[in-house]
Amino acid sequence: PLFQKQSNQNNRISVFVRLRPMMKREKEANSRSCVRIVNRRDVYLTEFSSDNHDYLRLKRLKGRHFTFDASFPDSASQLDVYSTTTADLVEAVLQGRNGSVFCYGATGAGKTYTMLGTVENPGVMVLAIKDLFTKIRQRSLDGNHVVHLSYLEVYNETVRDLLSPGRPLVLREDKQGIIAAGLSQYRAYSTDEVMALLLQGNKNRTTEPTRANETSSRSHAILQVMIEYRTRDASMNVINRIGKLSLIDLAGSERALATDQRTLRSVEGANINRSLLALSSCINALVEGKKHIPYRNSKLTQLLKDSLGGACNTVMIANISPSNLTFGETQNTLHWADRAK
Ligand code: ADP
Ligand code: MG
Repeated sequence: PLFQKQSNQNNRISVFVRLRPMMKREKEANSRSCVRIVNRRDVYLTEFSSDNHDYLRLKRLKGRHFTFDASFPDSASQLDVYSTTTADLVEAVLQGRNGSVFCYGATGAGKTYTMLGTVENPGVMVLAIKDLFTKIRQRSLDGNHVVHLSYLEVYNETVRDLLSPGRPLVLREDKQGIIAAGLSQYRAYSTDEVMALLLQGNKNRTTEPTRANETSSRSHAILQVMIEYRTRDASMNVINRIGKLSLIDLAGSERALATDQRTLRSVEGANINRSLLALSSCINALVEGKKHIPYRNSKLTQLLKDSLGGACNTVMIANISPSNLTFGETQNTLHWADRAK
């Protein structure tokens, strides 16, 4: 075969939590921190009563304490988050394996900061590509390894190219899997151009008409990094191999969580995020070891079919805010992340 995939015995999902710092706006509203992270692993959630300033520790309630592969306090650096969550996937992708990294959480919890970051503090997307180029150069793989980038959006079940905006893209199934027909691929030669490219792409994300400068909380952004290289198979024939890393800044989880129990049909009526719900169903099916994974239920899960489960490495980063003002959202996010383990 032209493209050959390696099999991988371990397809468990790694789950991480990242707490962001308290924002000025939250401090000014006298909000208090309801999250404590201990030993980079344990997350403790505390609820404050609103009428007095005593607080109730949720000692008897279920779900007050969570534990993950790693939990990052608000002091964690972008590099720390990248190295712990994603560096291994970059290594695997260089060997021809697929992998995906998701940021999940409510709007304002720090997903875009974690994935894209800023020019001063670049996030997982940029650090992954930087690391990729470093590894390719260190191992003198330059002549052989070719890196391509695609950046796309799923918004209300419509797929758009963020690097070359235009008409919606149609998903098609071919021999290599499901592809977005006409999606542009940028050949990347160095890290320098990537941040600018991604910032520009992010500007092309859909905004709500009422909040013209803010990315819609219902928009999913997917960066796909493809590494193609030539190698030899067991009988010494030259073959092309391709590894794909998908980095996903998911839509805000607040609306999906409110209707967790509903079926997809009623969800559509309520204009809830079908892709986010379908992703949850796929992850639950994978975690439970089910044979049938319902990839077909949404555009997001169709696009990620070859990067989620099976021989792929999957990483979930749940982003949370410390403020007691968003206690409910934080609790929901932690429960969701706990079920993905
Ligand atoms: P989301 O994408 O989940 O809606 P953002 O990533 O936009 O949330 O984060 C909301 C705000 O908090 C932004 O102003 C962002 O810069 C800031 N922020 C988020 N996480 C961090 C962090 N770890 N350190 C510093 N600032 C952060
Ligand atoms: Mg965002």
